[in-house]
Amino acid sequence: MLLIRCPYCEMERPEVEFKYGGQAHLVRAPETATDEEWTDFLYFRDNLKGVHAERWRHASGCGRFFNALRNTVSDKFVVTYKAGEARPSSP
Ligand SMILES: [Zn+2]
Repeated sequence: MLLIRCPYCEMERPEVEFKYGGQAHLVRAPETATDEEWTDFLYFRDNLKGVHAERWRHASGCGRFFNALRNTVSDKFVVTYKAGEARPSSP
């Protein structure tokens, strides 16, 4: 069973309590964005092989969103951190 550490509850819980929320640290396109910039913002995401920053929600726990660095090759979580915090440097 995969365990994920919620940075708010400060404990590891089973993966089934969490929902994936997509790529972390996205910056919304400004109102003045071109159609191409809007398309990039709405539809295109990084698809990295390796450590990736993601949003997760502790849906069956505290209900809060947080960020995580997860290795997409090994499916191992490197670290989790609270929403709004800067991305930690990856190993
Ligand atoms: Zn939690």
